[in-house]
Amino acid sequence: MSRPQRSHVTSPATARQIARERAVTAANYHPLPVVLAAGAGEWLTDIEGRRYLDLMSAYSAVSHGHAHPRLVRALTDQASRLATASRAFHAQALAPFLEKLVGLAGLGEGSKALPANGGAESVETAIKAARRWGYRVKGIAAGHAEIVVARHNFHGRTTTIVGFSSDDDYRADFGPFTPGFRHFDFGDINSLAAAITDRTCAVLIEPIQGEAGIIVPPAGFLAAARRLCDERNVLLILDEIQSGLGRTGRMFAFEHEGIRPDGLILGKALGGGLLPVSCFIARREVIDQFDAGSHGSTFGGNPLAAAVGLAALQVIEDEGLIARSATLGAHLLARLRSIESPLIRDVRGRGLWVGVELDTTRVRAGTVVEHLLVQGVLTKDTRDRVIRFAPPLVIERAALDWGIDTFAQVLARLQSQNQPGPVLRRAPAETLV
Ligand SMILES: *Cc1c(COP(=O)(O)O)cnc(C)c1O
Repeated sequence: MSRPQRSHVTSPATARQIARERAVTAANYHPLPVVLAAGAGEWLTDIEGRRYLDLMSAYSAVSHGHAHPRLVRALTDQASRLATASRAFHAQALAPFLEKLVGLAGLGEGSKALPANGGAESVETAIKAARRWGYRVKGIAAGHAEIVVARHNFHGRTTTIVGFSSDDDYRADFGPFTPGFRHFDFGDINSLAAAITDRTCAVLIEPIQGEAGIIVPPAGFLAAARRLCDERNVLLILDEIQSGLGRTGRMFAFEHEGIRPDGLILGKALGGGLLPVSCFIARREVIDQFDAGSHGSTFGGNPLAAAVGLAALQVIEDEGLIARSATLGAHLLARLRSIESPLIRDVRGRGLWVGVELDTTRVRAGTVVEHLLVQGVLTKDTRDRVIRFAPPLVIERAALDWGIDTFAQVLARLQSQNQPGPVLRRAPAETLV
């Protein structure tokens, strides 16, 4: 492992590139001041040749690491044969991919998949499926189906999905919104029970809330939600776009509680870090509500995506990435918990997916992230409170340890600068462009 050089000096080339990008890019993101040019495994390189350890994996889309050779080969092989055909025709690559995926999900005899591209598209698929099931199977009065969602959920950015977000940044002035959603407090089974009515067709949740700050519900919550949904004749639909495919130390996070959902939404890592590939998989009775013309996507399930998706699933198995996530994840959690810093309020997570919540009266998470960047470690805070640790599952143990050491050092330095003093907001100006 060759370590990144430990300086991040202001550079005209980097500043120029950032200005160019800003001039032509909508301001809907606030990127850290680094301009990436290449990646391999858990390492990224910027345009100046500086190396960084990736502790975020593009929100879990890069669980396989950057430019995984086998995935790049699957991509280029398929691209040179047939990349896009549309679902107007059958294509050779689709069945093997979905056979594998539906088999892994294990949602029962006759369960099937509907492929799409970005994750939000498959959340939309799930919403449509749940509503049709509600009207056609459960017998909810036309136009009255409701879906119960958690407060502080994150399911994507379409107008329907942001309509049931509890985050004002996501919603402000984007209305009017799609009706038919009710909220409950994540992790609170009584709150969930109270939100379900005779009109409820589905409960849609993340098994662990990602963007909310890596919120792990109390043990038994998912199993209790499963029982409740069975009792009330309501579908349980899990959004495992971020938690799925090994991230939590199991193939799917629902396995931790020995349950099966009625519908499962996958994305992010399903594209092997190379392409947007997402999918909604459901039990027969749910997925069979779709008939010809009821839903579609021009690129959804294209041969290129199918070939890469299949290879992505095979790599997870062949390289033992799930066991790796469990083992290295336990190590990560234990090491982060052992850091003694008054700046830390909580450390939580599962597998290679850990959030460190900071005391924001003393330091902002954004500040820590900027200092980490300077030291050659890339991650991103969520909600300016929580630092996320979600490295590629292929990460070497030594690299992970170096990342943790660097984090501990950054916290120690910030703490010594911060006594008593005001809240630290930025990395030293000279270190950032
Ligand atoms: C990222 C994410 C989405 C949205 O996926 P996109 O590919 O950005 O549309 C939905 N749900 C969860 C849990 C996510 O983490």
